[in-house]
Amino acid sequence: MAIGRYAPSPTGTLHLGNLRTAVVAWLFARSEGSELRLRWEDLDTTARPEHETGQRRDLTRLGIGFAGDEMRQSDRLRIYQDVIDDLSRAGLTYPCWCSRREIREATAAPHGLRGAYPGTCRSLATTAVRALRESGRPPALRLRADQRELTIVDRLHGPSTGVVDDFVLARGDGTPAYNLVVVVDDAAQGIEEVVRGDDLLGSTARHAYLQRVLGVPEPRWTHVPLVVDSTGARLAKRDGSNGLDHWLAAGGSVASLLAAFGRTLGIAVGPTATIDDLLAGFDPDRIPRQPAALGPTGAELALLP
Ligand code: GLU
Repeated sequence: MAIGRYAPSPTGTLHLGNLRTAVVAWLFARSEGSELRLRWEDLDTTARPEHETGQRRDLTRLGIGFAGDEMRQSDRLRIYQDVIDDLSRAGLTYPCWCSRREIREATAAPHGLRGAYPGTCRSLATTAVRALRESGRPPALRLRADQRELTIVDRLHGPSTGVVDDFVLARGDGTPAYNLVVVVDDAAQGIEEVVRGDDLLGSTARHAYLQRVLGVPEPRWTHVPLVVDSTGARLAKRDGSNGLDHWLAAGGSVASLLAAFGRTLGIAVGPTATIDDLLAGFDPDRIPRQPAALGPTGAELALLP
């Protein structure tokens, strides 16, 4: 019985990869007799209520139901700030004035840990901090981590070692960062199994580390292979050309999409299916590890060889 969640960012139309991940999250929860909770990750400046409406409609059309109160991150800024303040009081944060370019250049250096913040602002002299404060440029706030890597265990990928660096908790403009809020919110929603796209597998070590720092339970992790387009590129939510409406316009139906999801998830189904058919045939051990690709017509989906 693991409570799951789906946490879309309302920044565009859900593409078929997003929808397939939502179906998988629902299947994991329901196959254990548990429930799926919804969270709107709307701190992105491009989040819009109309995208939320469209995303909700598409999830409903597939038959995905959610339990409990839905959570919206923009309602929770005070809570995130309290967590950040607690970490700061415990000496676990520091301000960082590095620009993206400076970090990119530093992490490209031969001895840098790929993608890890090199710690430039971690032990600045007091005079340097004063000068930077006087510059008026607002600093980001980083976690003072005492570990560089951590291994998590994923249901589909097995053990996976990822970077834990002094990652950003709040941006210079004060917006709390995804890596913080995802951990705070999964704990607040009582989430026991995180099912999401495997583009986020590399961030999971940071989440597991922060869970230990905050003393909240680590959920089970399941990172689902993505859906790519006919050129092999990842689908992007923002262009809106690869969602349910597009599938329908290309001659598909909701039932044919669910069947295509089923086939690419190792579930034996005919040309059409309901979400309950998928549930009846769902076996986590049969989920393929490779991505699925959307065919050129926009209404066909198959596993990549
Ligand atoms: N909000 C993220 C997205 O829409 C998902 C984050 C997560 O599942 O942890 O891609």
